Amino acid sequence: MRKLRFNFFPIKTMLLVMSLLGTIILSLSQPIVAQTEGDRENITIHNYYTSPPFEEIYYYAIETEEGLILIDTGRLLSQARYALEELQQFDKPILAILITHPHTDHFGGLPLFIEAAGGDVPIYASQITYDSIESDERGYIENRARQLGLDFPDPEDIPLPNSIVEDGQKLTIGGVDIIAYDFPTNESDTTTTYYLPEQQVMFIGDLVNGEKTPGLFEGNTNNWIDTLREIQESFPDLERVYPGHTSPDNPDELIEAQIDYIETFRNLVSEALENDQVVDDEEKHDIADEIERLYPDYETSFLLPGLIDINIDGVAEELRSENNQQTFITN
Ligand SMILES: [Zn+2]
Repeated sequence: MRKLRFNFFPIKTMLLVMSLLGTIILSLSQPIVAQTEGDRENITIHNYYTSPPFEEIYYYAIETEEGLILIDTGRLLSQARYALEELQQFDKPILAILITHPHTDHFGGLPLFIEAAGGDVPIYASQITYDSIESDERGYIENRARQLGLDFPDPEDIPLPNSIVEDGQKLTIGGVDIIAYDFPTNESDTTTTYYLPEQQVMFIGDLVNGEKTPGLFEGNTNNWIDTLREIQESFPDLERVYPGHTSPDNPDELIEAQIDYIETFRNLVSEALENDQVVDDEEKHDIADEIERLYPDYETSFLLPGLIDINIDGVAEELRSENNQQTFITN
């Protein structure tokens, strides 16, 4: 009898562990939440997002009478599979995929969406996005492939955009007018926004991030602020923007909050650079503390735990080069 009880114990423990694991896996495996924005003129916009704790990425489907226009594809293959399951309910073909910018969290799911679309579907992106994905000069694709293994496509399987959009080009897809505006060098090498003039909405990539720590590490924050001001001035009647990492909302508050964060960050790094042009470890620590104090609710993706640190490095390099240019001009 004793022996039997001994045998039961590990089975019970195993069952307990399995049910715990199951709960964890279940809680992680509901990452796609489909929300419908309601009808805007002749379309419906659906949001799909991958939820925390892993990372929060929003991507979108514009549903027209004729089919679906997808904006970005998320990063992970597992998430793309969930998104495709959600899209199946509409029982409509994928008409086109529009890519906002060359960061892997916006195009990693491409191979699965292309396959679901039957292989032959236009992938729109700007020339800069095309070049950046093709060259992978910053090593983003290579690094993610190594880090994420089977949940990220083999770099060779990632299709390149096959329809290059020019700045200001009007596309009509599924009966809907979409104008592509390309804003180079800000959050990434470029952000192509997709503007729907009839509905007064814009898919804005990662130019605004709500209460998410933005990626400033490419060191183009000055131009990023200019881009946001330009959007404010050029699209005064814009009703709603659809960002890559936070809920769609009215543009005014999102844009002002993003500019405030970037300016504050630049000022803190600029102060640390005074005298020696270096941000040492202690200063880095102080900047991170101050940012935490000023923006206590801002979240950072699990995949980018050292984001604030690399943001400081990127902005420091940008400010040093701005200072050098000024010295050059005054000389
Ligand atoms: Zn992103």
